[in-house]
Amino acid sequence: MEIVPQQPTQKGPDAWFTGDVWFDVLAAPPLPARLRVNAVHFAPGARTAWHRHANGQSLHVTEGVARVGTRDGLVVEVQPGQTLWTPPGEWHWHGAVPDRLMTHLAMWEAGAAAGTPETEWAEQVTDEQYRV
Ligand code: MN
Repeated sequence: MEIVPQQPTQKGPDAWFTGDVWFDVLAAPPLPARLRVNAVHFAPGARTAWHRHANGQSLHVTEGVARVGTRDGLVVEVQPGQTLWTPPGEWHWHGAVPDRLMTHLAMWEAGAAAGTPETEWAEQVTDEQYRV
């Protein structure tokens, strides 16, 4: 066994996020393990771009209030202690509400083979979709 060296906190890239987002990689063990866990910190109003995960994703809110939307126009808020599941292939976005910081644990699985895409990214979420 080994204690894994902690990676530096990373800034969420502008191509994938609106607003200030920082994340820590908590777990990304080598194949055959496919577990992926990030702690993601969103400034008020910050959110991901539209995207989908090949194997789905669980989002567990630890602080603040999350807002999550899907292509059918549904927007839900998720409270600390709640877990939201987005199934494989479902287009969605997630972020903070406009007036609160938000932190969630993002948990998903990498592809079965090295280099297999696990997340597909699309356009940014508009203010209308976010419903400021
Ligand atoms: Mn997601």
